[in-house]
Amino acid sequence: MLEDVSPDPRRTSLTSALAAAALTAAAAVPAALIGRAAWGVPTQIGARRRRLRPLVAGSPQFSQGRFRNTVPTPTMEPGSRGALLAQLREGRSAGVPSRPVPLVHPEVPTQAAALAVTWYGHASALLEVDGHRVLVDPVWGERVSPSATLGPRRLHPVPGPLEEVPQVDAVLISHDHYDHLDLPTVRRLVTEQSAPFVVPLGIGEHLRGWGVPAERVIELDWDGAHTVGPLTLTCVEARHFSGRGLSRDDTLWSSWVVRGPRHRVFFGGDTGYHPAFAAIGAQHGPFDLTLLPIGAYSPAWAAIHMDPEEAVRAHGDLGGRVFLPIHWATFNLAFHGWAEPVDRLLEAAARVDVPVVVPRPGERLDLSDATPVTPDWWTAVR
Ligand code: ZN
Ligand code: ZN
Repeated sequence: MLEDVSPDPRRTSLTSALAAAALTAAAAVPAALIGRAAWGVPTQIGARRRRLRPLVAGSPQFSQGRFRNTVPTPTMEPGSRGALLAQLREGRSAGVPSRPVPLVHPEVPTQAAALAVTWYGHASALLEVDGHRVLVDPVWGERVSPSATLGPRRLHPVPGPLEEVPQVDAVLISHDHYDHLDLPTVRRLVTEQSAPFVVPLGIGEHLRGWGVPAERVIELDWDGAHTVGPLTLTCVEARHFSGRGLSRDDTLWSSWVVRGPRHRVFFGGDTGYHPAFAAIGAQHGPFDLTLLPIGAYSPAWAAIHMDPEEAVRAHGDLGGRVFLPIHWATFNLAFHGWAEPVDRLLEAAARVDVPVVVPRPGERLDLSDATPVTPDWWTAVR
């Protein structure tokens, strides 16, 4: 949750950091430091509201000046501010592993498999579905922040260089928060890949502003679909919010269905639990594999980030077979322990017999024929 820029005091936001820097500037913070923190920020924030609004205002999800969830979705639960401030004072060291996270150098074959996934950490993954490749929420940057010197930074290095990712058929983006849409990564994908960026409404304006050719941008509303080769990519409802600057909910958020002739994968992106999972499962499922977020949860923002138990419930609603957790391990964005999400996930999944695979960052799992067994690697580094 500590992932976007807003005036909210709990967030490690650039805005508040810069404001703090400006306030302390009088107390002799070197101007060069402030300058370095702010360098490039206007570009990072992306398209502004007045440019976005005419492009998105026709969407059924857009009303009274912003995109809306279909169920009431406070980004902050009423009455939770005091508890959050207390947690902030206690610090967030629990969310940091005590030893280096073990990485695997990604080994991606030249021929894409029937069903495989390489997890690069957090929500970044390379899907192989029926011989084609889809890269989801690729974040290779060091910080999930508009600033090069402030904001949450990686808890482990990227497991492999972006240039080693083979040519993909599409790049899917779930929403415009920094931990899912990374400007340095986008810029490199413009030259290193030729695939289209398939994104929820409004995000195309960010991308075009960053140099992605217009013909490589496919923008979809919920229930919109785009085909690449034999794959159908469908933009589906998620329960979340958006924004890279002070302005919120100017672009849409979504999950994605990747459907091939033989296999189906659900990519959750970033979402709270919501009733539409069941309808998505009925319409697009069952899914051979789901990638669902399990980390960065808190009772204070329960509506916009699922906890592990809710993620298992969503997996069941969707008609998922194998569960692969995302949105944990790579960035410290909440107050829970670093490995708590995966511990809770395994307990919850065991109660309902859901098979879970937990790759190390960089590890490729081939699920074409059988579900691989992934040993516990996180307990030793928690
Ligand atoms: Zn988000
Ligand atoms: Zn996120």
